[in-house]
Amino acid sequence: MRYDSIIIGAGLSGLTCALLLARSGRKVLVVEQHSSPAPVVSGFQRGGIYFDSGFHYAGGLGEGGPLQPLLRHLGMEDKLQTFPYAAEGFDCLRLSSSDEEYALPVGFRNIKNYLAERFPPAAVEIGLYLDEIATTWRNFPYLDLDTDLADFGMESVHGCSLQERLAIFSPWPQLQSLLSMHSLLYGVAPEQAPFSLNAQVAGSYYHSVHGLGGGGRQLIQVLLKLLKEAGGDLQCRAEVAQIFAEEAVVAGVRLQSGEEFTAAEVIATVNPTQLPDLLPAVGMRPAYLKRLKRLHQTPSAYIVFARSEQPLEFLRGQNMFVQPHAGVFTAGIDRPLEERSFYLAGADQGRDRAIKGLIGIVPASYSEVGFLNISGKERTVEYQDWKKDLGARLLQIFSLNCPQLPQLELLDLATPLTLRDYSHAPQGAIYGVGRNLGQYNPQPVTKLPGLFLSGQAVAGPGLLGALVSGYLTCGSILGHELLRGELRACR
Ligand SMILES: Cc1cc2nc3c(=O)[nH]c(=O)nc-3n(C[C@H](O)[C@H](O)[C@H](O)COP(=O)(O)OP(=O)(O)OC[C@H]3O[C@@H](n4cnc5c(N)ncnc54)[C@H](O)[C@@H]3O)c2cc1C
Repeated sequence: MRYDSIIIGAGLSGLTCALLLARSGRKVLVVEQHSSPAPVVSGFQRGGIYFDSGFHYAGGLGEGGPLQPLLRHLGMEDKLQTFPYAAEGFDCLRLSSSDEEYALPVGFRNIKNYLAERFPPAAVEIGLYLDEIATTWRNFPYLDLDTDLADFGMESVHGCSLQERLAIFSPWPQLQSLLSMHSLLYGVAPEQAPFSLNAQVAGSYYHSVHGLGGGGRQLIQVLLKLLKEAGGDLQCRAEVAQIFAEEAVVAGVRLQSGEEFTAAEVIATVNPTQLPDLLPAVGMRPAYLKRLKRLHQTPSAYIVFARSEQPLEFLRGQNMFVQPHAGVFTAGIDRPLEERSFYLAGADQGRDRAIKGLIGIVPASYSEVGFLNISGKERTVEYQDWKKDLGARLLQIFSLNCPQLPQLELLDLATPLTLRDYSHAPQGAIYGVGRNLGQYNPQPVTKLPGLFLSGQAVAGPGLLGALVSGYLTCGSILGHELLRGELRACR
């Protein structure tokens, strides 16, 4: 069947691209390898509780935040139920070895006051640091709608790492922890993370913090409804095996099943390291393909889904980052599980009822599951037994390090193999390709006419990164000034 545009991947960025292109009058098809759309963010139900998988909270959705014009332009704003996170402390840091706790309030000014009060000798430097983030965090295409797009140096980021920028706070290791804990949300260690990447992600949360009633599932349902209304098609269980070209111009995709769809434009939202295997032999420089293949992946994770009989009210509108010792944040994947940092969130918070579900994310390396020797989607008895033991061990680690937690019952556990097989992330990379300092950042336009890239690798992780990547890619097709003009009208 012939389409104008085919989008590979029905994640947040793929659906954003599909909606923008379908609205422009194109005949659009989204193909997704999984059995249902957006396997990363759609969440699931266990033990009577809805658990989010790849979405917990969003930054930059508050008054004047850059997510507002994007959601308004997409037609999603009035269809999403949002709720604010706790103003007095949306992200709590617990340093387990010393039993210290800190809670970051919402808003740059409140954070500045809070930190200056907790670390008085560092007050002036804290002020300067936060001012720098406040003025730079949205200096990115489609977050800043007034700057010339040509001003954005997007190919790679050089300069100061987060760790280098935080060296000035060495006398206050607790402060360093607080200012670097959000690196857990983009999966690049502070010594390799550009300061600007941390500013983009942490800054969005410093600005404003919201959850979605119905979680990531609601987000996807709204996007799918809008896509249907715009006339876009979606096909699941449709894994692309090849992008084909005719006379060195993109011509369509071939699925694993052998089915073919033709189109003048193909947008791939897959992990870019997988792209070279999908491409025709002609049309791309070998150096470019090598660059893609070598892109750095973020680490993987274990994700615990548990139930508590007691309400988990201390996690209402507040996540908890647990780090064993103060200092610049380290995930600790080279250390035993007991010495790693982790993140806890309450499940299904958008409703007027007690929180009974816990989501815990513990960074992990893919090599930890290597001994299981599982290459396909089959799961052995050995794997199930190992998972059960691991889940019990992780729950014990949570209770030991976080005394507020009541008795928990393990409902499920995602491992690097789950992440690998659900989202097609190489080595179960939790946030796909990491945007490390000095690394080439994949661009939306490729040398093969008609082939475009989108997704978190193109603009950054999270809802914000995925939406921006969708706009960057579609702006390359429809015209950036057209889209940016429409967005300005939505401010
Ligand atoms: C545990 C976890 C927690 C998170 N928490 C948050 C949060 O609280 N807030 C936030 O903003 N962000 C969060 N994120 C990040 C956010 O989920 C991602 O940044 C975002 O979903 C990325 O969207 P994407 O469309 O770029 O990628 P993806 O969702 O990975 O989309 C790519 C799609 O392509 C499909 N695909 C791959 N290969 C093929 C193929 N050959 N053929 C067809 N289809 C294919 C995949 O199945 C996938 O659906 C979290 C992520 C994880 C994993």
